[in-house]
Amino acid sequence: PAHLCDTASTFRYVRVNLLVTSVDAIIKAFQDDRYRLVDLGQAEGGPMHQVLAAKSRVFACDPDLNDLLVFPPGTDLHAHPLFVNGSIVLQDKASCMPAHVVQPAPGSVALDACAAPGNKTSHMASLMKNRGRIFAFDMDQRRLDTLVQLTGNAKCKIIKAQCTNFLDVDPLDPSYADVEYALLDPSCSGSGIVNRQDALVDSYIAIVNPGGANDARSSETRAQNLAEFQTSIVLHAMRFPGVKRISYSTCSVHAEENEGVVARVLQSQSEFGLAAADQVIPTWPRRGLETAGLTKEQAACVVRTMPEDGTNGFFVAGFVRLQPADIAST
Ligand code: SAM
Repeated sequence: PAHLCDTASTFRYVRVNLLVTSVDAIIKAFQDDRYRLVDLGQAEGGPMHQVLAAKSRVFACDPDLNDLLVFPPGTDLHAHPLFVNGSIVLQDKASCMPAHVVQPAPGSVALDACAAPGNKTSHMASLMKNRGRIFAFDMDQRRLDTLVQLTGNAKCKIIKAQCTNFLDVDPLDPSYADVEYALLDPSCSGSGIVNRQDALVDSYIAIVNPGGANDARSSETRAQNLAEFQTSIVLHAMRFPGVKRISYSTCSVHAEENEGVVARVLQSQSEFGLAAADQVIPTWPRRGLETAGLTKEQAACVVRTMPEDGTNGFFVAGFVRLQPADIAST
């Protein structure tokens, strides 16, 4: 499962598992293993590509996420002792964004609604320093088994995995009264995954030419069904009385599943608004599209990634519970 997002054309990202080690210790371990740490600097025009593209045995600190290191495309660390012993997790950068948007505090209670195979669950546990509780739901038992194994390898001790449909979980059950954070990464079309070339080409065409000839009725229906399901997952998470911060993500590049879902969620309820842009990976330049019902200001609050950024195509939005005064003024 950790290999799912890896493809030859994207950078290789290494997330440091803070439950086992520290970023400094991992940097030193790679240097001792004859990898050279390089500075990506602030140069215009894709410094990551220039510095890392053609070289081997170099690495850098990621400029946007503080627990991430970046290696040139093609670097294979699956046999590296640091991966084998759970000190590092091989996870695409885009997929590391949601946990940083949720920002679960150590000692708090969080939920992961569609959690398996569990890389984002394990990332939340890492940020929470194994203190508090994470309820991890998934309706697929086999994938949940993988989650238990994967989060166990990563030394996570605060995860309670349950095989269930998240939409059937009762938000008012007293067991969930203290849940403050929710990570929502529901099933999507997967059109942003780089190695699914056909899906990617379709997606580009759909963005450039929405409603164009390639939009077959069946795929439109499928996208609508997915968007409805994704919206219902977000609205359900908002019914947990203590939830105050939510991340919603997909590995899709279709606006319908991304900006469209955000717009529907904002229209359907008044207790949550979008997290401000400076709370949502503020240094990442590619923001949402002003489309599918989102204003320019709202689009600036959400994040997109595309293969040309050296990641999979991905989307992340943050929602925060509004204070009563904010609700009165909306
Ligand atoms: N967040 C995961 C990670 O980072 O490893 C990946 C999640 S994957 C995109 C979506 C997951 O949602 C699948 O494992 C699927 O079984 C699960 N799922 C779909 N519908 C669900 C539902 N109604 N309730 C719970 N899980 C669901």
